[in-house]
Amino acid sequence: MSTVLIIGAGGVGSVVAHKCAQLSDIFTDITLASRTVSKCDAIAASVKERTGVNIKTAAIDADNVAATVALIKEVNPSLLINVALPYQDLPLMDACLEAGIHYLDTANYEPPEEAKFEYHWQWAYQERFEKAGLKALLGSGFDPGVTNVFTAWALKHHFDEIHYLDIVDVNGGDHGQSFATNFNPEINIREVTAPCRHWEDGAFQETEAMSKSQKFTCPEGVGTYSIYRMYHEEMESLTKHIPTIKRAQFWMSFSDNYIKHLDVLQSVGMTRIDEVEYNGQKIIPLQFLKAVLPDPGDLGKTTTGRTCIGTIIRGIKDGQEKALYIYNICDHEECFAEVGSQGVSYTTGVPAMIGAKLMLEGKWTTEAGVWNMEQNDPDPFMDDLNQYGLPWTVVELDVEAAKSLTVV
Ligand code: NDP
Repeated sequence: MSTVLIIGAGGVGSVVAHKCAQLSDIFTDITLASRTVSKCDAIAASVKERTGVNIKTAAIDADNVAATVALIKEVNPSLLINVALPYQDLPLMDACLEAGIHYLDTANYEPPEEAKFEYHWQWAYQERFEKAGLKALLGSGFDPGVTNVFTAWALKHHFDEIHYLDIVDVNGGDHGQSFATNFNPEINIREVTAPCRHWEDGAFQETEAMSKSQKFTCPEGVGTYSIYRMYHEEMESLTKHIPTIKRAQFWMSFSDNYIKHLDVLQSVGMTRIDEVEYNGQKIIPLQFLKAVLPDPGDLGKTTTGRTCIGTIIRGIKDGQEKALYIYNICDHEECFAEVGSQGVSYTTGVPAMIGAKLMLEGKWTTEAGVWNMEQNDPDPFMDDLNQYGLPWTVVELDVEAAKSLTVV
């Protein structure tokens, strides 16, 4: 019997609500709260229609710690699932500490005034969570999230040491819009336009945003795409917890059309995150842009194609060099048929539900404190991925082929 409070009624929040409701023997009581309560109500109606489960809804400004503590006391959950925005991570962790409940999120904290996503702000909560006897699980989405678990699973079962890690995130979907992002546009564009950092020789090396790219052919006929090297937060925790990693890189696919639009938006100043004066009012151009772009939560209706996200890992086993590719392929239309969302929300929301499930079952975060995904036993998570909608495949690669990211 577990009561959960989900915060955030966007694309990801909707998937988490549907997936938790599908497991109503574990998530016996679900409340979905967000800034705009009408969005929670629409999701609750869809959950009722698809699963027969009633979930409760509430309005909350998650930046307001006192209001969140009051809501937690009213709902009385054992766990808060944060799928609002990265800006809300710290106030929600504060609220969980004050109200005495566990915490889970899918993206690390980012200060609103600077596109800098790093773990140190959340790792600094370690002692407070430990002292309070509470648990926080960070980054339980796909990337970060599943990619960390793939790496931990490879280390547990297939390698003595991991040396090289390439995380490749391909969205081979077509949403039929001239320009749209697959998750929150503000967070997505901040991530893509930030300088690239990858881990090499014991430190993060900075290069110009989107300055390194190559072609990547996905398995199972998903297609060939241009992938661009960029910074992604799981590299920070993985290189900390698996210190044998010599180089870690993250790659994401973007269509020529996406790059063309982004170039123009950037060059005319629409991706700026500082305030500008407009009609006597201060606005942040990127937030204004978000307001006119398609809502990622609405893209499911028109999106076709598949995502293919995985990790290419090279290392040593019994003194021999070895390479593996572990990946999941997810079909946008199948996700829409199941929960009414496109694949990017789905691939984030399912791991959030699994992380929550494993915490509630006592299989993960077995001790109090702040945890990253790879610090937990990967096996039950890998089993649950197969069972709850994100089946994975592992293939051994030729070591030379793996160096050029050739997986088929
Ligand atoms: P959306 O923008 O679709 O949804 C965000 C939701 O949070 C909205 O409902 C929004 O409310 C709500 N919200 C924003 N601010 C507040 C606040 N102060 N108080 C209460 N609610 C608030 O984003 P997504 O669903 O696409 O993404 C959700 C999270 O998942 C993000 O943190 C994103 O970075 C993360 N993510 C992680 C991935 C992974 O693989 N790890 C991949 C994709 C996303 P309103 O509707 O009023 O604006």
